[in-house]
Amino acid sequence: MRLINLFRSLKLTTQVNFVRYSSEYVPKPLRSLKAKSTRNTVQYYVDSFRVRAVGGTGGDGCISFLSAWCKDHAGPDGGDGGNGGHVIFQAAHSTKSLNNCKSVIQAKHGEKGYNKECNGKNATHVIVPVPIGTIIRDETGKVIGDLDVEGKMFVAARGGAGGRGNKFFLTDTEQAPDIAELGANGETKYYTLEVRSMAHIGLIGAPNAGKSTLLRAMTRARPTVAPYPFTTLKPLIGMVPYDDYEQVAIADLPGLIPGSHKNYGLGIQFLQHAERCRGLIFLLDSSQEPMKQLESLQYELSQYNSSLMERKHCIVLNKIDLPEGKENYLEIKKNMDVIGISAKTGHNLMELLTVVRQMYDGDET
Ligand code: GDP
Ligand code: MG
Repeated sequence: MRLINLFRSLKLTTQVNFVRYSSEYVPKPLRSLKAKSTRNTVQYYVDSFRVRAVGGTGGDGCISFLSAWCKDHAGPDGGDGGNGGHVIFQAAHSTKSLNNCKSVIQAKHGEKGYNKECNGKNATHVIVPVPIGTIIRDETGKVIGDLDVEGKMFVAARGGAGGRGNKFFLTDTEQAPDIAELGANGETKYYTLEVRSMAHIGLIGAPNAGKSTLLRAMTRARPTVAPYPFTTLKPLIGMVPYDDYEQVAIADLPGLIPGSHKNYGLGIQFLQHAERCRGLIFLLDSSQEPMKQLESLQYELSQYNSSLMERKHCIVLNKIDLPEGKENYLEIKKNMDVIGISAKTGHNLMELLTVVRQMYDGDET
């Protein structure tokens, strides 16, 4: 079985390389070959994190005097210490959240100097990958860094310089200096990291529209699904892989009810996550007056932030496997550009995933 999977993936990669450069190539979502886990693990997404960055201490300089067989007092030969490492944050494409970020990041120390004029080794810098779009605040809350481009770096804490050995202090008047410098301490700084773009696409809909079911169907995420409103209390993220190795993050947000802007239900605080998305999916339950739902969703969004209304979006009618849902869908389809799907049976998900990719791509150009 594993061998077959391997062959399949190999076949896929060769196919990708071939079609990637053709002008009509449309990236297709990849189906996951591995079954989802049935264990109930706690899933969470860290989008804001406080860290302490500590630079490495420099190595101490060495005090040493060379004594050769032909010359007892051959002079000072203590080498310099190496520099301590920096702590650096770097925006990386492959990192999607701050889940694996440590609260204390300590860089390595420089090596001490040795005799025979051997200098200590400089410590390597600690490079912490953070998601693209991470903003860095200092202790006062002021934004001091914005890692918005792949590879962009921010030096969070500098390492201390290495101390000089006694060879350095050799002068005409001081032929046997018995002094050396200690390595300097590295900086210690506190920062708050915030991921500004949590997901690329946000799912917006009334409670029970099937948002969590849709996220389950599209991705490997496992949000709780239940037939009562407000099953989802916190935003959840799922990833859709495409066959050109691009990954699109989709967020399941809690339901919006009429009056959410007055803090009814769970309020609209979580819409700050939608604010950072590139595109929105309005998910409507087609079996229960979908147009009314759309109006109320759009009203709530405009109450929160009118610029959200101008965001790229698509209107999706869910539950078209139900007879009344199908009826409503066919009716609405005549006048509007909508996608009819069934999250439960997986009907028409491919079309939706292609549109999702278009929304994702559209922003970059
Ligand atoms: P959420 O509140 O928007 O996250 O909605 P859920 O995903 O928790 O789903 C609410 C209920 O709708 C659950 O009982 C689902 O089984 C049901 N449901 C979701 N999608 C479909 C669908 O496509 N067809 C049918 N018949 N039921 C669905
Ligand atoms: Mg839900």
